[in-house]
Amino acid sequence: MAIRTIVKHPDPILREKSKEVTKFNANLHKLLDDMAETMYENDGVGLAAPQIGILKRAIVMDCGDGLIEVVNPEIVEYKGEQQNNYPEGCLSIPGLRGDVRRHKWVKLRGQDRNGNPFEMEAEDLLARCAQHEIDHLNGVLFIDIADRVYPISKDEEGE
Ligand code: ZN
Repeated sequence: MAIRTIVKHPDPILREKSKEVTKFNANLHKLLDDMAETMYENDGVGLAAPQIGILKRAIVMDCGDGLIEVVNPEIVEYKGEQQNNYPEGCLSIPGLRGDVRRHKWVKLRGQDRNGNPFEMEAEDLLARCAQHEIDHLNGVLFIDIADRVYPISKDEEGE
C-alpha cells in the first residue's frame, strides 16, 4: 500500500467524469488499498479515485463503522433530506466547509473489489459521504452545490 498525493481544487482532473471499472484485477485492488490508506492518513471519512488522479468509478468510505469500498457505485433509491447536521468538507478543498442539502437515506448499488454486485443502505453521515464521493465521479464538488461555503481552521478533517 502507498499513500498517494491528493489532487487539489482547482486541478481540472477533479472536473472530469470517471470511467466505469471493468477489470477487477490486482491493479484495482492496489488502487483501493492506496485510496483507503490515503483517506486514513489524511483523517478523511471518504475518498474517490479521481482525488488521487485516477479517473475510475471507485470510492472508499469510513464513517466510524469500518471501511466500505464501492466500485461503480450508483444511487438507486433515496428518501428525505438533511442539511446542516454535518458540515461538509473535502480533502481536495482544504480550508473550506459547506452547508449542503443531501438525501437523508440512500440505497447504493455497486460491486466489490472482485466484481460481485451488492446493494447497501446508508443514512445520515454515511449517506452524505456516499453522495459526496459519487459526485466526485461525475466531476461535481461540494462547493458547486452548497447553500453556503465558509472557511475552517486548516487542520480539521475533510471528506
Ligand atoms: Zn471530496
